[in-house]
Amino acid sequence: MTYQPASHPEELSADTVVVAAGRPPRGHDSPVNPPIVLSSTYVGSGTVVDGDRAYGRYSNPTWDPLEDALGQLEGAALPALIFSSGLAAASAALSLIPAGGVLVMPTHSYQGALVMAQEQAAKGLFTLRTVDIANNDEVITALTGAGGKAADMLWLESPTNPMLEVADIHALCRSAQAVGALIVTDNTFSTPLVQKPLELGADIVLHSVTKYLAGHSDVILGALATSNPTLREALLHHRSIHGAIAGPFEAWLALRGLRTLALRVERSQASALVLAQRLDLHDGVERVLFPGLPSDPGHVRAKAQMNGFGSILCIEIAGGEETANAVVEALRVWTPATSLGGVESLIERRRRHANEPESVPANLLRLSVGIENVEDLWNDLVRAFAQAAARG
Ligand code: PLP
Repeated sequence: MTYQPASHPEELSADTVVVAAGRPPRGHDSPVNPPIVLSSTYVGSGTVVDGDRAYGRYSNPTWDPLEDALGQLEGAALPALIFSSGLAAASAALSLIPAGGVLVMPTHSYQGALVMAQEQAAKGLFTLRTVDIANNDEVITALTGAGGKAADMLWLESPTNPMLEVADIHALCRSAQAVGALIVTDNTFSTPLVQKPLELGADIVLHSVTKYLAGHSDVILGALATSNPTLREALLHHRSIHGAIAGPFEAWLALRGLRTLALRVERSQASALVLAQRLDLHDGVERVLFPGLPSDPGHVRAKAQMNGFGSILCIEIAGGEETANAVVEALRVWTPATSLGGVESLIERRRRHANEPESVPANLLRLSVGIENVEDLWNDLVRAFAQAAARG
């Protein structure tokens, strides 16, 4: 049984694609949703290696509709590849750096990807140059090598996790292309509905599907999308040989979650903007980091390359780390937890993680705005600020 995407000859908008992509072909009594296929192997002749699927580590029919949908959403010419987690996808992407090569990466990349790169660099697999990704001159110097070795890969994350710096994606892709570097962009924070890195010049887009795409905090999954068949083949080979494959149920759940992506993104982005504007005026907050605020250093760039500003915002709490902790403890509607992109609003103090760079302020709280009523979210914050202040 080979998955055949339902054909949509007409160009559909992304909020229709999330609903329409990855459906089984229509036929009388055919199911509306693709089935979950639980099989570790597939019948072949047993005498020669034949068939496309062969074994469950190479492929599974449940992956196909999700990969088709994610590829379409990112505007890739090919289906995406899903992995067991966002970091498994990052590991596959980093494997494309040649031995002894150079990787340029934001100082405030998602800390898991940064630690992976640091550990691989420490083993001598490649040289790592970390940069302020919002500073074009600094990134270009790192790419060209300033007389030394030019970069082999540019890793972009925009806005960054958690400092929400905005990279000039199009300009940096051109500079990376000029030195022959591959460009990988982690698009987890924005989703393909808000930002299209392949259109801006990236070669590969990475997602922690765990977050917005699946959207319900019940799945760990990753994905890579590219239009380049050679790169896709290399990434597929990495997945098959290293074995970081998605479970069929996770793939099915992620596609189920994807159906409501447009509604969830629309709602959470609108709420994030309202909350950022109000928090910016609140005495309990020293600084709001959110590219949607005109005062934010990334605002102009974000406006130019994003369709909205995402729904993650960070606040630095007046009174320091202890007051920040007291705010988190006093919240009732917001859930104190790491991760982001689910229907429920999450909050955490990022520096509690040992690997978070010291340049992330100790009083910084990261807020992942969900789809609850915005006034309930606001009232909970205001009450928590008051309670934390009363604790002194
Ligand atoms: N990229 C970003 C921006 C993330 O926030 C995360 C996880 O928090 C990842 C990648 C890693 O994804 P996963 O947890 O699915 O491995």
